[in-house]
Amino acid sequence: MNCAFCTNPDVKKRTIIENDLAFAFPTNTPIVPGHILIVPKRHIQYYEAATPEEKVAIEELREKIKAASLKAFEAQGFNYAWNEEEIGGQSVPHFHLHIVPRKKGDAGIYQYEPREFLYRPGARAASPDEELFGVIESIRAAL
Ligand SMILES: [Zn+2]
Repeated sequence: MNCAFCTNPDVKKRTIIENDLAFAFPTNTPIVPGHILIVPKRHIQYYEAATPEEKVAIEELREKIKAASLKAFEAQGFNYAWNEEEIGGQSVPHFHLHIVPRKKGDAGIYQYEPREFLYRPGARAASPDEELFGVIESIRAAL
């Protein structure tokens, strides 16, 4: 199986926090600094395929990342979202919850419209490792 989350060593290196069933890391194509993905460790495409324990594990990490992002990035709000199927913008067929910290005037987001920022195929350049590891350090320091 060739899954970007299951087999990519760069993703493992970017893990900020994990529990037994899920882990969190910054996407390499962030919309804003601090754009984090939470992923179950088991390869499943759909949220419905997650066990109750996996759903609790995902939620536990979401709460921790939210609290840390409030401190680390002075977030004023959040978007939580996931995409399903190619038509819905799911580029990696392994369930992942997007956590996008929002701020007044944040760069790169022009309006509140999920399609404008969660489904922009090919429009986002990958961020350099240096920037991603800065995000990781900021969140870890705030956990
Ligand atoms: Zn996978």
